[in-house]
Amino acid sequence: MFNAVGACQRYLLFMSESLTAPDLTLTTSDALFTRAKDHIPGGVNSPVRAFRAVGGHPVFMQSAKGAWLTDVDGNRYLDFINSWGPMILGHAPDLVLNAVQEAIQGSLSFGAPTRREVEMAELIKQMVPSIEKVRLVNSGTEATMSAIRVARGYTGRNKIIKFEGCYHGHGDSFLIAAGSGALTLGAPDSPGVTEGVAQDTLTVPYNDRAAAEQVVLANEGQVAALILEPVVGNMGLVAPQEGYLQGLRDLCTQHGIVLIFDEVMTGFRLARGGAQELYGITPDMTTLGKIIGGGMPVGAYGGRKDIMDQVAPAGKVYQAGTLSGNPIATAAGIAQLTYLQEHPELYDQLNRTTTRIADGTRQICQELGLNYTVNQVGSMFSVFFTDKPVTNLEEAKQSDTEAFGRYFRAMLHRGIYLAPAQYEALFVSTAITDELVDTYLTACREAMREAHGL
Ligand SMILES: *Cc1c(COP(=O)(O)O)cnc(C)c1O
Repeated sequence: MFNAVGACQRYLLFMSESLTAPDLTLTTSDALFTRAKDHIPGGVNSPVRAFRAVGGHPVFMQSAKGAWLTDVDGNRYLDFINSWGPMILGHAPDLVLNAVQEAIQGSLSFGAPTRREVEMAELIKQMVPSIEKVRLVNSGTEATMSAIRVARGYTGRNKIIKFEGCYHGHGDSFLIAAGSGALTLGAPDSPGVTEGVAQDTLTVPYNDRAAAEQVVLANEGQVAALILEPVVGNMGLVAPQEGYLQGLRDLCTQHGIVLIFDEVMTGFRLARGGAQELYGITPDMTTLGKIIGGGMPVGAYGGRKDIMDQVAPAGKVYQAGTLSGNPIATAAGIAQLTYLQEHPELYDQLNRTTTRIADGTRQICQELGLNYTVNQVGSMFSVFFTDKPVTNLEEAKQSDTEAFGRYFRAMLHRGIYLAPAQYEALFVSTAITDELVDTYLTACREAMREAHGL
C-alpha cells in the first residue's frame, strides 16, 4: 500500500500513527536478488551493494531524478549516496542528459582521438592546477593503478606507502592488510594477491606523520610513491589533522617520493579543485573518478609534466584503453564539470546544507544521550556510532556496527537511503533543499530511537 505513495507523504502518514516504521514492499527487489544470486557472485556487481554489513536484501533501483530514487517496487527514497559521489547535482540533471543525447548522434565509440578529450583535459587542468598533463581512463581503480606504475617508472623504485583505511580501488597493490605493522612487510588482504606484490606495499596509520616518516627512513631510497585520500571517505569520513598534509608533502619532497592524492572521491566535490584546493597543498600526481564522469564510467590521472611524460607514447610506461576518452562519457563529464566550474557558489550551498545535517544529527544524538561522533568536510559526512573522536581506522573500528545496521534499516524504511555500511561516507547533492534536510532530521531522530530502543 505504501509503495504507491511518495516517501514524504508516507512519512507523514506513519508519523501520525506510531514510531514504528511502515513496511516497505520489496517483492520485486527480493525476486530480482534471488535470481541475481544464481548468476552473479553474491548477486551484485560490487560487494557493498549486497547490504551484508547491515542485514536485509539490497534494493534494486529503477530510476532517479534530483534528490529522489525510485526502486523497482515503486518506493521512493531520499538519496544520500548519489552513486557514491558522482551525482553532485542530484540525479539525471537535464544539462548532462542533453549533452549525452547530443553526443549519441555522433556514434558511441571510435577508438580514435576526439575533440572532447582535448576540451576535457583543458577543463581538468583549469580546475585542478597541480595537473599539467592528464590521461583519461575508465574507472578510479584504473587511475590509481596507472598512477603508481608511472611513479615507479619515474623514480625507478618499487615500494609504495598507503594508509590504513584508505581505499584506492581493487588493484593488487592496494589490497594489503590495513592492520599490518608499519615497518613490517604487508600481507595480502585478498586471496589472489601474491606476497610478491604485497611486500612492495607499506602501510601506516592515517593522521600519524611520525609513523610515515619512520617507514620512509626504514626504506630509504626504495619508496616510489606515497598515496592517500587527502580527506578519507572510505573508513567513513575522516579529516586530516592540522598540518598533516603539509607534513607529508615535506616528507615526500625531502626524500624524492611522488606524492599522489587520490581524489577519486574528493575531486570536484570539496571544492572545484578538490581537497588540494581546500587545504592548499600541491601533490605531484592526482587521481580522479566519480564526479568526473557525471555518472558515466570515467577516471583520470595526471600531475607534473615531467612525471606524466613518462606515459606511453610520450615515454616508456605503458598504459592504454580501448574505450578511454569515450565520446559519450566525455560529453557527460564535460557538461557536469563545466557547470561546477561556472558555479563556485554551489560549494558554499553544499557546505551549508551538509553542516545543517551534521549539526542536526549531532544534536539529536546528544538529546538521546548517545553522543555519537559526526565527522563532516564540505558535502561529505559520516555518523560514527561511537562517542570517541574518529581520526584513523583504529578509532573508526570502535563503532557499534550492530546499532548502525538497525539505524540503517530504520532509515531505509522511512525512505532515507544511506550507505549500507558504517565505514562509508555520505554524499550530499545540490538537490537536497532545506526542507529535505528537515525530512532527513525527523527521520534520523526516530530511527536513532528505534535503533536503540529509546
Ligand atoms: C571509489 C574510489 C576508488 C575506486 O574507483 P572505482 O571507479 O570504483 O574503480 C579509488 N579511490 C577512491 C578514493 C575511491 O573513493
